Amino acid sequence: MRRKRFWNHDQVGQVQIATHVDRHGRTAHTATCTAPGCNWSGEYLNRSAAELAAQNHRCSPR
Ligand SMILES: [Zn+2]
Repeated sequence: MRRKRFWNHDQVGQVQIATHVDRHGRTAHTATCTAPGCNWSGEYLNRSAAELAAQNHRCSPR
């Protein structure tokens, strides 16, 4: 059986959002900025929190 690690991929600006199951077996939502030089990322317990964080993220490369 194939296990999907990330699903429900979404993109808000430069930030990618994906859902996954963390090591405690809980569903978690990760927001990761894909802009070069920006290492911002965050983990959230619900989707709307991840989307809100993505929308509010301001890139600050250097
Ligand atoms: Zn960024």
